[in-house]
Amino acid sequence: MLASSAGGWSGNGGEPIRMANNVWFINQEQIPYCILAADSYPMPAAELSRLVRSAFDKWISFFTDYGIDGLGRSFFPAQPFVPHDSKLRMTLKFFEVPCASADTPFAKEKLRFQFGLTHPLIEAYRTFNPEEPLGLAMKKSADGRGLMNHGYIWIDRFTADPLRIEHVLLHEIGHVLGMPHNSVYVMDEDVATHLSEGSQAALGMIQTLSWPYRLQTNARIGLSLEAYNRTNIPTQGRSCQENPLLTALIRDLDLPARPCYDVGLRTTQMSSEAIQIQLEFTSEDRVTIYQGSFQPLPVHELTPKGPKFFTILPGEKKWRAQVFDPIPVSEAWQGNIVGYGRPLAAQLTMAKGIILHLHVPTLNKWITLRSRS
Ligand SMILES: [Zn+2]
Repeated sequence: MLASSAGGWSGNGGEPIRMANNVWFINQEQIPYCILAADSYPMPAAELSRLVRSAFDKWISFFTDYGIDGLGRSFFPAQPFVPHDSKLRMTLKFFEVPCASADTPFAKEKLRFQFGLTHPLIEAYRTFNPEEPLGLAMKKSADGRGLMNHGYIWIDRFTADPLRIEHVLLHEIGHVLGMPHNSVYVMDEDVATHLSEGSQAALGMIQTLSWPYRLQTNARIGLSLEAYNRTNIPTQGRSCQENPLLTALIRDLDLPARPCYDVGLRTTQMSSEAIQIQLEFTSEDRVTIYQGSFQPLPVHELTPKGPKFFTILPGEKKWRAQVFDPIPVSEAWQGNIVGYGRPLAAQLTMAKGIILHLHVPTLNKWITLRSRS
């Protein structure tokens, strides 16, 4: 976790910045890891072992849910010149083996967790980072061509709270699995602030309801209305009645006049080229549904936020950028919402949560609906 860096630490200097977010282990059967802890670490070894296993399992569930499971899916291109037939897959199988000691070279392990235990290499990286991070994911070496990068995950002795330790663990393992900063809640570049303040409920979670990785087909996301003057106005409660934006939106959508609506967004279809949604307005057990369709806004280069890999593959000369997400979606989409009246212009963005912008014709204003927890 490095607020000042583009990604996890990577090794021994000289690594191009674009490789900082590379997935560490590709096309390996399984990866042995081991765990070392300082004697003073405020958690027993068995508990640390359980936390590490739990963190891996959460990430594996995440990748499986989004189809980024690396188990038989073909490798999709980030750029058009990359062929679809690559057999490369992310390695998502990890198992624990014993460690010798912090001073010994790597033996069987490819990944070494060090809780409260540093060594000169880790100290050197900490020195370069003025922010004193709580954790680091650091490749021992990286040439950009290997499909296996040994390395360390170091976790500071900063708390005895298992949830906080697990949150930092999740963040650092996320770097090993190629998840860049701000791709999902736990990868927030300001993750340290979540540990000192903010919602306790979301600690130990990869994504939250208000900040999912992306839309998922058939999943419903609750939306909150945010006024154009940036005052939050709930869609439930008395203040709804005094919200001129909501009143105008209800009128423009030909919704029955009710004081408050609960708004939800359900994705019915999703690909790199198109998103179809249903916008659901619920009031007093009555649901009114509007259809929305979106196309990606033109971008110079698709920059998906999932696991990536920049490399020169064996026998080739060209650098290639590839991604593992089967739906490498654009972060900004344009389209419209079609109800019983005229279509409303709409935009959809996916950055630190899902945001739907809707144009309200009678006011000639845009309103903002945000994913909420
Ligand atoms: Zn980080």
